[in-house]
Amino acid sequence: MEALILEEAHKLTLGDISLDEPLGPRDVRIAIHTVGICGSDVHYFTHGRIGPFIVKEPMVLGHEASGTVVEVGRDVTHLKEGDRVCMEPGIPDPTSRASRLGMYNLDPAVRFWATPPVHGVLRPTVVHPADFTFRLPDNVSFAEGAMVEPLAVGMHAAIKARIKPGDLAVVMGAGPIGMVTALAALAGGCSQVLLTDTQQPKLDLGATLGPIRPVNVAREDVAQVAREITDGWGADIVFECSGNERALAGLFEPLCPGGCAVLVGMPLQPIPYDVVAAQIKEARVEHVFRYAHVYPRALALMGSGRINVKPLITDKFAFADSVRAFDFAVQMPPTSVKAQIELP
Ligand code: ZN
Repeated sequence: MEALILEEAHKLTLGDISLDEPLGPRDVRIAIHTVGICGSDVHYFTHGRIGPFIVKEPMVLGHEASGTVVEVGRDVTHLKEGDRVCMEPGIPDPTSRASRLGMYNLDPAVRFWATPPVHGVLRPTVVHPADFTFRLPDNVSFAEGAMVEPLAVGMHAAIKARIKPGDLAVVMGAGPIGMVTALAALAGGCSQVLLTDTQQPKLDLGATLGPIRPVNVAREDVAQVAREITDGWGADIVFECSGNERALAGLFEPLCPGGCAVLVGMPLQPIPYDVVAAQIKEARVEHVFRYAHVYPRALALMGSGRINVKPLITDKFAFADSVRAFDFAVQMPPTSVKAQIELP
């Protein structure tokens, strides 16, 4: 089949790959409709690796996907041919200790699309376990369905923060993950989000999504803004979604005493950690790695209209233009948030 194949760093082609995918009794075959381009896809394209995961053999990219069920395994009861669906890209071993403890995202045996050596889904069809395939509500488009994957990360962060109604949150970084984390924080009960970045067009877009106060950190100090809003107390939660070293250095500054910092963004290098700054506030610090069974909640919020991701989908490319789409994603203009590829 025709697929977008990464041979090695910087070598991306739309070419033919032969993938033998038999349909198991608990699997479905899905015709792919839309695939979002993720920061991780772009990083494999530019660097050929992410940490210990190295592209050694040609690999199909793409893991944020939606599509239509075209074939159903014998034992599958909750899906049928023609269903519009989105898919969770990580498949754990259901018998593993991590899975049985309810944190299957941390299963060392998890197989995740477009993470070497597992192929991604920028191709016409994929076979996937039905248990990790979710029907889209009628009012949720394929484009929105392909946004469930990044939204699930923001939702997982909001769950880990243990938001209380009325909390004030800071979200550092107005990229796709920062934006969906802001939406998840508001849906989870935050009264307001202070969204930080240095790219004004991204902040302007963020401000249209709800009670979100943009803070351009090139000109304003987010800790000061948080104090002004709270009579000097500080924000209840800080979600760090930028992975930026300077943002991380100031992680605890906007936080209130007893508040919670959630680390979502991944810095490219190890960074210093100010223990005392965390101690004097008795900060609770949480870490996020993907998500575990968050898709049903994300789809419920989209279906009810409580979360609207449509304004975040800024750029569309045809499958035939996939290589151009990745060149675009490497040099993303500040007005863009999420680029998606549509299959014919
Ligand atoms: Zn992603």
